[in-house]
Order: sequence, then structure tokens, then C-alpha cells
Amino acid sequence: MFVMGGTLYAIRSEKFKFQILWNVVSALSDLFRARTYLTHFPVQSYLEADVLSKESTWNILEYARRAGARGVTAEELSKTLDLPASVVYSTLKELRRLGFVFIHPREKGKSKDRKKRYVCDKSTWGKYGVDNDFLSAMTFAGITDHVVEALRPSLVGMLSKSFDEFKAKKELKAFLPQASPDNICSKCGRSHEAMEFIYAIVLRAIDKFITESDEFRVFLVERGYSK
Ligand SMILES: [Zn+2]
Repeated sequence: MFVMGGTLYAIRSEKFKFQILWNVVSALSDLFRARTYLTHFPVQSYLEADVLSKESTWNILEYARRAGARGVTAEELSKTLDLPASVVYSTLKELRRLGFVFIHPREKGKSKDRKKRYVCDKSTWGKYGVDNDFLSAMTFAGITDHVVEALRPSLVGMLSKSFDEFKAKKELKAFLPQASPDNICSKCGRSHEAMEFIYAIVLRAIDKFITESDEFRVFLVERGYSK
């Protein structure tokens, strides 16, 4: 865990732990429905960071995340991740309380499938990254809406172009989110995988612009924020 710009991020930087998880993930990759594009979960409190700092919790959340829109049962989590059922249930309860997972609504006509399925909720990505007071101030002043309006045409154009490039190039194609009805979230009606794909593209572009571009350096110099 480390603190950056007033926001807490829970990360697993220990390389070997990641390697172990990655091996598990790779071995099971056929089972996974959703690719992930962002590597950490933004959190808003020490409580959230504390919950996510447990390796079992992290692995459960990662697994649920990769299970996609239909989610995963507690039994499957317990079996695949080799965790006692009691740990899985208490962790899922905590993750639900914090809004990281929700229960998939029962599907009609599927009487066999009575077990609860837990879905990783990623519609909270955007909200988590920004300080609440700052967010309220921006929203109240209409700043967010103005920025969105100004960016809308170029964002839409840029994203269609990026999608086309990913589709056209063999080495990029594997990174595309799947367009399948199975992958659409029962709660928000969108593919979390596709949303995360777009977040990753936009975040990287904005980061590059802010940290590396001459235009932005000049912008800062003119306002006394750089020399
Ligand atoms: Zn959703």
C-alpha cells in the first residue's frame, strides 16, 4: 500500500506473489471470461486498503474480476484458490459491503443454477480515483460537464480509431475485450471489460500528455507551476 496525491492505492508490488498469482491465472485462463487492463484497485479508506491487503482477498477479487459478468460461486472460489469456505464467505461479505462485488440476479428458468454468483463491480472505477470534496466542487461548478462536452467529439473519434487499430493488427487483436452478451453486466448493462479497456487507453494517454508533452509543460510555465 502506498499513498499518492492524497489517494490510497492498494497494490501488490511483491514480484513473486504476483508471479504465483499469474501462474494460477495463466493456467486457468481458459476459464476466464474477462481480460483485465488496469492493475490496481483505487481505494478510498484505510479500511478498504486493509481488506484488500490480505492475499486471499486480493486473489478472490482478481478471480471474480476475471470471471466476468456472470460472476463466480463461493464453491468455485474455495476449490480453485484452495481457501476454506469460511474464509471465502467472510471475504465475499466484506467485499459486498464495500461495493467491490455484488450478487448476480437469479436467471429465470435455470432452476439448476441455485448457487449465488458473485460479480466484481467495476462501475466504481471512475468514482474512486478522485477526492470526494474535490469531486463535489467540480460537479457543483459544472467543470466536469464542460470538460466532457469539450472532449466528447475527439474522445469518440479517438476511441473508434483505437478500436479499428486493435481489430486490424494481429498482435493487438488478442487485447480486445470480447463483444458477447455473456459479458454484459446485469447491473449497469455494460461490459466492464470494455469499460476498463477504454479507461486504460484514456488514462495512459492523459498521463503521457501531462508528464511528457511540451504543450503541457508550457501551460504550467505560463501559470507559475514549472520553470
Ligand atoms: Zn456493472
